[in-house]
Amino acid sequence: MIWFTFLNNLIYNNGFKNGFMKKLSLYIHIPFCDHKCIYCDFYSLISYKNINVFFAALEKEAEYYSAKYSNEYQIKTIFFGGGTPSFVDVIFLESTLKNLNDSFKISKDVEVTIETNPGTVNKQKLASFLDIGINRISVGIQSFNEDELKFLTRIHDPKTAAETVRHAYEVGFENTSVDLIFNLPGQSSEKWKSNLNKALELPVKHISAYSLILERGTILNKMVLDGKVKMQDIEIDANLYETTIEHLSAAGFKQYEVSNFAVPGFECRHNLTYWEHKEYVGLGTAAHSFVNGKRWWNYSSLKMYIAAIQEKGNAVRNEEILTASEMQDEYIMLNLRANGLSLYELSNLYGSAWIKRNEKFIRKLVNDKLLTSNNNFIKFTTRGYALCDEILAHFS
Ligand code: SF4
Repeated sequence: MIWFTFLNNLIYNNGFKNGFMKKLSLYIHIPFCDHKCIYCDFYSLISYKNINVFFAALEKEAEYYSAKYSNEYQIKTIFFGGGTPSFVDVIFLESTLKNLNDSFKISKDVEVTIETNPGTVNKQKLASFLDIGINRISVGIQSFNEDELKFLTRIHDPKTAAETVRHAYEVGFENTSVDLIFNLPGQSSEKWKSNLNKALELPVKHISAYSLILERGTILNKMVLDGKVKMQDIEIDANLYETTIEHLSAAGFKQYEVSNFAVPGFECRHNLTYWEHKEYVGLGTAAHSFVNGKRWWNYSSLKMYIAAIQEKGNAVRNEEILTASEMQDEYIMLNLRANGLSLYELSNLYGSAWIKRNEKFIRKLVNDKLLTSNNNFIKFTTRGYALCDEILAHFS
């Protein structure tokens, strides 16, 4: 069984890494979906025609990056996102993991997540995920309300959503997250709280709660432009967001990023890579990477992705090298949006000019109870998180 091979290799790999290696996260974008949800602007296809060719290209791409990085880096997290990675046959995921394990040095405690949509998995498929080495499930529930799910054009109903989480727990997943969306048209605070309560009744350790955003090019955007749907205003959105923070905090979930809450110890290590400005490589269509101050991104189109991999082993569409000042700005912005910013670490990395420049503003934010400051560590309060975009724009 592949799981045992995977485990044995993990132990073997771990034997010669000895802590000297840098850490890297791997993101794998699987671009296939059952259908297109009205609010979604991610790159996804509803045709499975090229699935074999895609996974063959993915394998080649992994080999390309392993030749570049596997001597220096050890993989600490792997994240299957999309798209709907849970929709593809387990055999593809199994061979991808096997290939990664053969090509890279994998950390013994690697976190391996799969985004999973209710309605695309049964208990047996969930058990197979565990079997091939996946140890974290992120379930895209979005709502437990029948009408809201219909509005969002999700393929599942509330019963299937709850069942998926329970089944994941029953087959052995201890680290399960659910995604929920708030501020849907006409959504009241009570309706939203009832969604949060239903999630809290389930065996989940992590909740991501996102406000419904109107993205250009989506079906929802057209519906709003045509006057068929009216979005709620910004005050309702802010109130629902504050309700989220209060409700989840009271239930023992710690907010560790603007939209993310976890039982302590169950924060998503993969996402922390992004928010702590650490290094990652993205494989697959439209995937982004960030290593050594350089960011690059892949072709979105499946056709162009496959052609580029076949030609040169990678599918880089474009790249940018961040200046020292851009690196500092991203470091500050990402850490503040997440778990907070260590001013000590900041000055070690980038000097103290930013701190001196913003000292007065930081004091004001602390006085206004938008920021807390302890031992040179600053962090947004609940109100601060609610206003974080506005506040971040005022730092100089
Ligand atoms: S299932 Fe997810 S990725 Fe696919 S269309 Fe819906 S929201 Fe987008």
